[in-house]
Amino acid sequence: MIVVPLGVASATPTAVRHLPSVALWREGSVFLFDCGENTQMRMLQAGIKRSKIEAIFITHFDVDHYSGLLGLLATLQLQRREKPLHIVGPKGIKDFVEWNLKFADIDTNYEITFHEIAEDIESDVVHDEDEYYVEARPLKHTKFCVGYRFQEKDKPGKVDADKAEKMGISKDEQFKELKAGKDVTLNDGSVVKSSDIVGHPRPGDSFAYVTDTEYTPNAVKLAMNTNILYHEATFGKELKDKAGETGHSSTVDAARVATEAQTKLLVIGHFSARYTNEHDLLKEAREGFYPAWLANELRPIFTDPMHERGIITPKVEINEIDKNSGGSNYKGKKNYKSGGKKNLRSRKGGSSSRGRSSSRGSSSRDRSSSSQRSDSRGKSDNYKRKTYGSSTYSANIKDKKDDSDSNSPRKITPRSSYDDFDRF
Ligand SMILES: [Zn+2]
Repeated sequence: MIVVPLGVASATPTAVRHLPSVALWREGSVFLFDCGENTQMRMLQAGIKRSKIEAIFITHFDVDHYSGLLGLLATLQLQRREKPLHIVGPKGIKDFVEWNLKFADIDTNYEITFHEIAEDIESDVVHDEDEYYVEARPLKHTKFCVGYRFQEKDKPGKVDADKAEKMGISKDEQFKELKAGKDVTLNDGSVVKSSDIVGHPRPGDSFAYVTDTEYTPNAVKLAMNTNILYHEATFGKELKDKAGETGHSSTVDAARVATEAQTKLLVIGHFSARYTNEHDLLKEAREGFYPAWLANELRPIFTDPMHERGIITPKVEINEIDKNSGGSNYKGKKNYKSGGKKNLRSRKGGSSSRGRSSSRGSSSRDRSSSSQRSDSRGKSDNYKRKTYGSSTYSANIKDKKDDSDSNSPRKITPRSSYDDFDRF
């Protein structure tokens, strides 16, 4: 699974932080935890497809946590979504959404299934599928607020087929029995034990989202043994009294929950606007729980680093423009499927790693040749304009190009809002 913080501010956005939302990517589906203003824009910038949203989980009704919901629902309608959508939140969420859609005269193409959480619950499984479930528990805030745990169900152990064959297992039926944990008796009377053939069940991946709360044992329960705990750290330890008054956590509280829950990685977010350097907060959190990390907007965090291999496959790339002929190699977005990390496109329009162009050795780097190029490169010029948006940015590229005399392929890390591809 991949966790992508979309907004890490609390209460009010700042120039560099957006209102709360975290996207969880799993096997092609997206789950949103909170939906602050700008969530749909941040998804676009993160390369996360809005059409892939399965469910939206709202923690509580402080406006910063759900102010992006209506805009997103309207966009899904304009995208002609047909797939049903799950919306989970405290009691009242259904009325809120339905009233607003009616007010705006939107009759959604897609069905919305609501799951409302009552205030008197101990815990509630709010979403249950074959491979995973989501659990909610009340937290301790100034108004009713819940935290969530996304839990994959355990996966069956691996079957050692070679060993099974050697022991005389040949039929599919017998394999099924063994997988189900049953021993199989062969014709000659010998018994093949399931435990000899099938490995230990593999524990499912897990993620907890705990925000807008003081310390509470329920936060620990949600986070118990998770791979990632996303926990608010709105205040530093010097403001722990203010944290208590406003129903929030300090860095110390976040570290305490992480320690008691024995999570593998604590990610802190939901920072008060008064902190311009979140690293101060991280330092404090690490004093209490070392495997801690900052939630950086749009920066993906992998629950299992092994997943990182090969999972990011950019769908578009810009190939090098043939500088000599002024022709364009751009053949349309769909031809730009790329196989893996090595084929990421070049940011500066220099040599691409695929090297399709015949002019890799060209040394014409002066301004006039570059402007001639842009006059005649047609489609690809348009594409570039679309990708980078502003002419200022293009000018910067040219300036940098003048300084550069390297023809080596330039690779980019696909982590900025300028990267026009779907990552997830
Ligand atoms: Zn909040």
